[in-house]
Amino acid sequence: MNRKLAGVWLVLSVSSLALAQPPPADLVLRNGKIVTVDDSRPEARALAARGGVIVAVGTDQEIAPFIGPSTRVIDLAGALAVPGFIEGHGHFMWIGAAEMRLKLGTARSWEEIVKAVGNAAEESEPGVWIEGRGWHQEKWDSVPAGSVDGVPTHQELSKASPENPVVLEHASGHAVFVNQKAMEASNIDGKTPDPPGGAIVKDLNGNPTGLLRERAQELVRVPRDFVESRERKKVELASKECLSKGVTSFQEAGSSFATIDLFKKLAEEDALDLRLWVMIGEPNDELALRLPLYKTVNAGDHRLTVRAIKRMIDGALGSHGAWLLEPYSDKPVTSGLNTQTPEEISRTAELALRYGFQLCVHAIGDRANRETLDLFEAAFAAHPQLRDLRFRIEHSQHLHPDDIPRFGKLGVIASMQGVHATSDGPWVVPKLGEKRAREGAYPWRSLLDSGAVVTNGTDAPVEDVNPIASFYASVTRRMANGEAFHPEQRMTREEALRSYTLSPAYAAFEEDIKGSLTVGKLADVTVLSKDILSVPEEQIRDAKVLYTIVGGEVKYQEQAHTNSVQPARAERSTSPRLRRNRAGARRTEAGARREARGGRAVGVGPCRIRSLTNSRESSAPNGRPRSR
Ligand SMILES: [Zn+2]
Repeated sequence: MNRKLAGVWLVLSVSSLALAQPPPADLVLRNGKIVTVDDSRPEARALAARGGVIVAVGTDQEIAPFIGPSTRVIDLAGALAVPGFIEGHGHFMWIGAAEMRLKLGTARSWEEIVKAVGNAAEESEPGVWIEGRGWHQEKWDSVPAGSVDGVPTHQELSKASPENPVVLEHASGHAVFVNQKAMEASNIDGKTPDPPGGAIVKDLNGNPTGLLRERAQELVRVPRDFVESRERKKVELASKECLSKGVTSFQEAGSSFATIDLFKKLAEEDALDLRLWVMIGEPNDELALRLPLYKTVNAGDHRLTVRAIKRMIDGALGSHGAWLLEPYSDKPVTSGLNTQTPEEISRTAELALRYGFQLCVHAIGDRANRETLDLFEAAFAAHPQLRDLRFRIEHSQHLHPDDIPRFGKLGVIASMQGVHATSDGPWVVPKLGEKRAREGAYPWRSLLDSGAVVTNGTDAPVEDVNPIASFYASVTRRMANGEAFHPEQRMTREEALRSYTLSPAYAAFEEDIKGSLTVGKLADVTVLSKDILSVPEEQIRDAKVLYTIVGGEVKYQEQAHTNSVQPARAERSTSPRLRRNRAGARRTEAGARREARGGRAVGVGPCRIRSLTNSRESSAPNGRPRSR
């Protein structure tokens, strides 16, 4: 072979080598059932990711050339991989806050509670508030001598936590128990009169026992200041919880500017482990001043987007707070509550349109939904030049049949929560009556059929953030008692998967970067132990998350699978270690809730907690309607 020919041969072989040998991927998934939610290639066996994005999807043979010496290869062994789940509506910081409170629901004695508080106090800086919830004296094996009203006096608790104020919420939500330090901080003593609608329980000598009933709970002044270390801890705990459930993106339903400032900082520090898409929950006056400053799209390598506003037009159904067209069947004196007026929300819509934000309005009852659709329609009509606005109705829970087709027609997103239908099911008919329940309660089949985009989620921490539970509810409508709640409204499994992936991506203007396993999109993948698209219905709930992958990095891995993977290099992690550290627990959820109840921030707390503003008696642990 002469030199010239050899040169040509060399060039040819290098270029054919280049064709056959693409640059190595950071991560390869192989030997799986990969359901892409991309109609151009619905299923595949393998996938390669590089630089945080998907670079190839195909057969094992097609993906093999992407494996280099430093590629992490995960053998899925036939497991199902789907686009990372997108929680369509939840309360991120509240998930973290819930994790930070002592869980006292299983305590069998007062001593157990005192011990738990003592341990927390030992690990906390003096002065830090210790919060807990869920205790119930009926669950105890015995009640200490000297109890008043069946509940002990505070002395043992005060001794266990002499330097840290303690506030422990009763399981009913109707009382709290506080220690001496908390009473001092709140100026509660023997001379403090009972507030209207509340009682400071006192012993025979007239000294407070520590038990504060009903509105006396509001006397406790948990500091409301924004303490960054505590808020960071919430982010850490909420991230860990979401990732363990396969959630790679979270649509946060109402944050204050202060919280968004923290999210921005974390995004800049590369310290957000999953992706947040945030609705702002601030009053109109604040929005008018600050909206342009807060618009954020894909900050921190697509970890943070802020381009939506949250409003609430009514309350929750369980507490008769949902705003109905006709009175409640079980309480005919009321048709529910209008919490923010349509005029006020119309002004928000104007601000949203002016600055290019989406508007997301919490609406549960049929009147609430109709009013919201009306005001959206009017706002759109006033700006005919603006198109594709993707305003959303959060929950879209109970609709008049006439309003169902309006979602598709107006391009309004129905941001629903599958699991609410089956949690609420048992008491929906008593509240709405058979006809209204059948025609319009959680009507996602009718919405999909009429051309609406329906997204899914959990409203966590109202419900567990688990997408599998909501997926199961969406496709079965089966309640805990085994009966199906209006099963004609079921989604197909493919629709349910879409409602947790591509549809919420669309509902956030993110369908070009998320929601399907498509070359060029972010490499966010969730791997499940069971094929939820084909196993018998009752096995869906057994599916476990094996891997949660965000931007091509494994952010969660089921313990049993830690040995089955062969990482070609050490795990790359830019995030802070997710350690549960009791000492760091800075417990102020009650403060946040009180702020949400009476403060000025709008739509900051979980819907079903905030919606109980005017009917505290109906609230229950974690904001669940008591009637559950
Ligand atoms: Zn909510």
